[in-house]
Amino acid sequence: MGKSGKPTVGIFGFTGCAGCQLNILNLEDYLLDILGLVDITTWVMAKSENSPGPWDIAIVEGSIAKESEIERIKKIRENSGLLVAIGACATHGGLPAMRNVLDVEAMQEIVYGEKTEHLDVLEKIMPVSHYVKVDAELPGCPMDKNEFVEAVKAIAIGKTPFVPNYSVCYECKIRENACLINEDKFCMGPVTQAGCDALCPTNGAVCEGCRGPVAQVNWGAEFKILKELGATPEEIKRRFLKYCPSTAEMPAFKELTF
Ligand code: SF4
Ligand code: SF4
Ligand code: SF4
Repeated sequence: MGKSGKPTVGIFGFTGCAGCQLNILNLEDYLLDILGLVDITTWVMAKSENSPGPWDIAIVEGSIAKESEIERIKKIRENSGLLVAIGACATHGGLPAMRNVLDVEAMQEIVYGEKTEHLDVLEKIMPVSHYVKVDAELPGCPMDKNEFVEAVKAIAIGKTPFVPNYSVCYECKIRENACLINEDKFCMGPVTQAGCDALCPTNGAVCEGCRGPVAQVNWGAEFKILKELGATPEEIKRRFLKYCPSTAEMPAFKELTF
């Protein structure tokens, strides 16, 4: 607890686009309420004076992409009571992890030229939970503002934040949308965790899976759907790999044959 008697919070950015942190800043209607519940002692994006810790709650955005980030996240973990990962980059690797299937050295040369010795990038970009214990995850790209507010409220009173354990299809059906699979579109709703109110299918776009895999995910069924719709092996693999940089290592994935 801070001097104010409220839980202290540190908000940290790792490799990502900072959009999830911006989403917190954009919580105009709720920010004062949140500040009434917790004491944000560290947030480089929003404060000029920042505490070196410890914190009751660490909120972490971004994936782990560099050697130096491994040390940093471990230090934050050691100095925090709870650690909450926010956004797809932190929970599943997200957009940065898409480069895991590419040649890292070739990518570095394209961006930085021949002088790449100073870079300490890792071979694979991984979610936060690959390196440290994570107490709660708020998925999405970006994480949902309202879900964040509810999570802060829950944590402040010692409860585990609620995250739905059903798929996007469930919310899509409640909204009475016509299923995009019937239009031969490669929708990932059946294997994706709900919580966005089926935002993309409701607006005519397929679910791309930004909230990560649903609990008890059935990769085999989704594989069958995509194959029957005519998706190529590469297309299916690319879509599955977005869920986690290590999806290719999942037994369920290995058993699937093209
Ligand atoms: S989850 Fe999306 S919005 Fe959040 S940091 Fe990553 S890329 Fe940006
Ligand atoms: S459109 Fe996508 S999310 Fe909606 S029911 Fe069909 S597969 Fe599920
Ligand atoms: S529908 Fe899928 S891609 Fe769109 S916001 Fe929801 S989880 Fe993310």
